[in-house]
Amino acid sequence: MSSDIDAAPCICFFLGHGINENILVGTDEMNMSSNTPPRRLSIFGSTGSIGCNTLDVISHLGGREAFQVCALSGRGNTDLLARQAIDCGVEIAVTADEKRYKDLKRALSGSGIECAAGDKALVEAAERDVEWTMAGIVGMAGLAPTLAAARKGADIALANKECLVSAGSLFQREITAGGGRLLPVDSEHNAIHQVFDRDQSGSVERIILTASGGPFRSLNQNEMAKVSPAMAADHPNWSMGLKISIDSASMFNKALEMIEARHLFDLRPDQIEVIVHPQSVIHSMVGYCDGSVLAQLGAPDMRTAIGYCLSYPKRPDLPIERLDFAQLARLDFEAPDEKRFPALRLARQAMEGGGLLGAVLNGAKEVALEAFIEERIGFLEMADIVEKAMDQIGPGETASSIEAVYDADQRARIIAREMVGASMAAQ
Ligand code: NAD
Ligand code: MG
Repeated sequence: MSSDIDAAPCICFFLGHGINENILVGTDEMNMSSNTPPRRLSIFGSTGSIGCNTLDVISHLGGREAFQVCALSGRGNTDLLARQAIDCGVEIAVTADEKRYKDLKRALSGSGIECAAGDKALVEAAERDVEWTMAGIVGMAGLAPTLAAARKGADIALANKECLVSAGSLFQREITAGGGRLLPVDSEHNAIHQVFDRDQSGSVERIILTASGGPFRSLNQNEMAKVSPAMAADHPNWSMGLKISIDSASMFNKALEMIEARHLFDLRPDQIEVIVHPQSVIHSMVGYCDGSVLAQLGAPDMRTAIGYCLSYPKRPDLPIERLDFAQLARLDFEAPDEKRFPALRLARQAMEGGGLLGAVLNGAKEVALEAFIEERIGFLEMADIVEKAMDQIGPGETASSIEAVYDADQRARIIAREMVGASMAAQ
C-alpha cells in the first residue's frame, strides 16, 4: 500500500463528496459583491483530503469571482494538481517531489501557470502575498511552508496539527509576530473554537475532545496485533487521508489533538479530557465552572470547519447534511481504554514533560506509521517505538528555537528507524 494517498489515479474517488473538474465555477451570492476584490489565498496540500474539501468549499462560496487562488501544492498526483491549478487559474503550482517536476510542467504547458518543485519551492510559494493559507500538508513536512506563510502575515487555517504538536508556542509566536490569525480546522479544535468563551477563559474548567474510537474500538489486543494497514485505514465515520485515518485507528491522532488543544487553548494537561463517541456527531465540548457544557454538533464533514475558517467570523451557507435528531435517536459515549490505546498516555507524558517531547512523539510516530503502512512492523509496535524514543530523549529540553524542534524531530526519527530495523531483524 502506498503511503502517498494522492498518488492514486484520482483522489475524488477517495472522498465521499469529492471534487469535480468544474470545481471552481460554482456561484453563491454571499461573496459576490462586485465591489469586493477576490480574496487572495493559497492551499498547501491541495491534492489531499483537506485540500480537495477546501476547493469544494471555495466553489460553493463564489469560486473565482470571490477568491483568487495564488498557489496550490501537492506531492503525488501531478495530474490532479495541474487540473486544480488550471481550474483555479493560479499563479504557481508546486509539487513537493522534485522527481515529478517534468510531469507537472508537461501537464501545465500552455496554461501560463508557473511550476516549481521541492521543499524550497514550497516555502517560496508560501511567502507570496495572500490573506489566507490552508495548511493542509500532512506531517512535519507542513511546518516549513506554514511558518513561511505565518511570517508573511497570512491567516493560517491549520489542518496540519503537526505544526503545533512539534513547535507549540514557538509556532504560535511566529503567527502573532506576523500579524495573522490562527484558525483551527481540525474538527475537534474548530468545535472548541466555536464554543470557547475567550472573554471569560478563566471560567473554562476543561475541554472534552471526542474520538470516534476508530475501526478497532472493540478489538482486543491480540486482534489488534494482526490488523493490516488497509483495515486500519477504514475509518467508520470520516473520509480522510491515509495517514490520519490510520492514526485515528491507533488513537495517535487523538494524542496529537490533545497536544494541539493544549497549545491552542492554553490549558493545563489535566484540563484536557477525551471521550469516545462512536457517532462523531458531537465534535467536541467545553466545560465551564458553573457545570455548563457547551458542544458543537454537526455531520462528520470537514467542509463545515473549513468553511468556518474561510468565512470567519461570519458563517457561510454550505450544503452540508443537516442533523436529523429523530433519525439519530441516540448518542453513545465510553471512556477511552489507555491500555489498548497507549497513544493517549504518551500524549499526557508529552504534555507534562513539555519542551521538545511533542516533536519527539510526532517524529517517532511518523517513522513508525510509515513502517506500518509498508508492513515492516505490526500495528501495536507503533506505540512501543514512540514510547522508546520519548524515554530515550526524555523531558527537560526546552523548545528554544525552530532549529531545536527540527533537531529533536530528527533524533526521534533516528531512534525510531533503529527500532524498526531491530523489529524486522527479529521477525
Ligand atoms: P492527505 O494525505 O489526504 O493529503 C496530504 C497532502 O499533503 C497531499 O496534497 C499530499 O500530496 C501532500 N503531501 C504529502 N506528503 C508531503 C510532503 N512530504 N511534502 C509536501 N506535501 C506533502 O491528508 P489529509 O487527510 O488531507 O490531512 C492533511 C492534514 O490535515 C494532516 O495533518 C491531518 O492530520 C490534518 N487533518 C485532516 C483531516 C481530514 O479530514 N482529512 C481532519 C483534521 C485534520
Ligand atoms: Mg480531528
